[in-house]
Amino acid sequence: MAEKAILFDTSRCTGCHACQIACKCWNNLPSPTGLNENKFSGTHQNPPDLNGQTRLIMTYNESEGTLPTKTVQWAFGRRSCQHCADAPCASICPAGAIYKDVVTGMVTTDNSKCVACQYCSTACPFDVPRYDGVQGTINKCTGCVDRIEQGMAPACVTTCQPEALAFGDRDEMLVEAEKRLEMLKQRGYENAVIYGAEEMGGLHVIQVLKYGVEAHGQVANPTVSPVTTLTNLMKPVTGVVSGVTVLGLAAMFGLAAGYKRDKVVYNAETEDTISLITGDVVKHGDGQDTTSVKDHILENLPGKKGGDHE
Ligand code: SF4
Ligand code: SF4
Ligand code: SF4
Repeated sequence: MAEKAILFDTSRCTGCHACQIACKCWNNLPSPTGLNENKFSGTHQNPPDLNGQTRLIMTYNESEGTLPTKTVQWAFGRRSCQHCADAPCASICPAGAIYKDVVTGMVTTDNSKCVACQYCSTACPFDVPRYDGVQGTINKCTGCVDRIEQGMAPACVTTCQPEALAFGDRDEMLVEAEKRLEMLKQRGYENAVIYGAEEMGGLHVIQVLKYGVEAHGQVANPTVSPVTTLTNLMKPVTGVVSGVTVLGLAAMFGLAAGYKRDKVVYNAETEDTISLITGDVVKHGDGQDTTSVKDHILENLPGKKGGDHE
């Protein structure tokens, strides 16, 4: 199997959030209420950022228009793991809980190994991995490797009606991105650009950004931080000078900024969402269907118990 990639063409996105919801359904992740603290912020972006139970959000970025006929432009963005070829989250993880899938190139997770040190959060130039306070592990997009292995596209891609999202071999997605970029340039979008071809050694989420990199909320020139590089260099000598390594890791962690902790947690047993601040249940679980969307779909795959195609 060739390396895979998700293609996101912002010019086709309608900002409908369906991809966000599909990610929640497939991965059996709750949608706690109360995260959008400023209800009248004038944005449809909800929740405002990734959190321990949200692996993908659509961002809504408004800026001054670049065409005479458009004085205001609304640029949708996809905020999730970019599946870097040179993935600092994977190289810094001391437990092997984040790793690159050698077949697809996606950077996926094995949360049974996660020791919750959160070094991956600090190493990621896109501020993606978040701590899930209920599971006590990191949570981030897995690239839906479990679906790809079954011959399916990622859940977010499958649900996108205007085909802003596509999935396939990475080299084919790059060719398709070039075609779409050309169309945008012909229509006068001179700031349109492809993102992900080279960044971080090549991303496995390729984006066609209609209004330019920053307009869609993407990071210009992402790099591995010097602290992460230093920590990786120190790894081989851990056994000899473990104290130095611990100091290095502590320094790295101390330097990390911007990490946001969740204010609500999800109780998987009762399916209730609980406020960490007040201790109150902010959303009661319905408890009607204990089978996840993922299990329902897997049950019905060809060759699986209960499937139509046996
Ligand atoms: S690839 Fe899968 S885990 Fe990642 S954002 Fe899409 S649905 Fe969520
Ligand atoms: S975007 Fe962040 S979490 Fe995803 S592979 Fe790159 S470094 Fe890791
Ligand atoms: S499902 Fe498609 S159109 Fe809707 S927000 Fe996601 S990428 Fe955009």
